[in-house]
Amino acid sequence: MSITENINQIKATLPATVKLVAVSKTKPNELLMEAYSTGQRAFGENKVQEMAAKYEALPKDIEWHFIGHLQTNKIKQIIPFVHLIHGIDSFKLLKAIDKEAVQANRIVHCLLQFHIAEEETKFGLSMDESTAMLNSSEFKLLTNIKISGVMGMATYTDDTNQIRNEFAHLKNIFDQLKSEYFPLDDEFREISMGMSGDYLIAVQEGSTMVRIGSILFGERIYNSRT
Ligand SMILES: *Cc1c(COP(=O)(O)O)cnc(C)c1O
Repeated sequence: MSITENINQIKATLPATVKLVAVSKTKPNELLMEAYSTGQRAFGENKVQEMAAKYEALPKDIEWHFIGHLQTNKIKQIIPFVHLIHGIDSFKLLKAIDKEAVQANRIVHCLLQFHIAEEETKFGLSMDESTAMLNSSEFKLLTNIKISGVMGMATYTDDTNQIRNEFAHLKNIFDQLKSEYFPLDDEFREISMGMSGDYLIAVQEGSTMVRIGSILFGERIYNSRT
């Protein structure tokens, strides 16, 4: 199957309201361009340097989604062009992004990442951490970030009930934050959940953005340095 066929097949399973973010990490520019030629504009990357290099080389109407764990010392490189940062997993990170966004004179859109999986390894905030942040006076002083919604990753398991429960939990977190902190804010609207193996469940549970790599571009091959 070609990338074009893969995209068409994935899109046929998505409601028009759900955005496809094509996760292109580790993939060469030629493959991104093949997706681009079908009209795909949203691409997801999880390494700062790789995303910056692809941004330089590829058409400027691509929307770059940063989906990885972002280190504060690397923020500056992506602030001038990033479309959406999916993984805000600490207040410290959000403050650092705001500081760089002020410097770059941009409003940077961000999603709060929640820890919904059983596994210890997945990054993310707890509900308490997020509400403490949103209630703080320090948060209210941030001028150049915009919280556009939430993001999460389900446990890597064959147990579809567990996956469904974890996505339902993230939808519930979204609904609570929406009603308590963003009731009149139309920009707080995204629920980024669902990957190649679980996106259909995520869509049923209310996802507005799926991040799909391997079933679109093929399995990733990592070399020892990445
Ligand atoms: C790699 C990655 C994806 C895509 O995973 P696939 O299983 O290849 O679809 C989605 N989200 C995040 C955060 C990722 O790191």
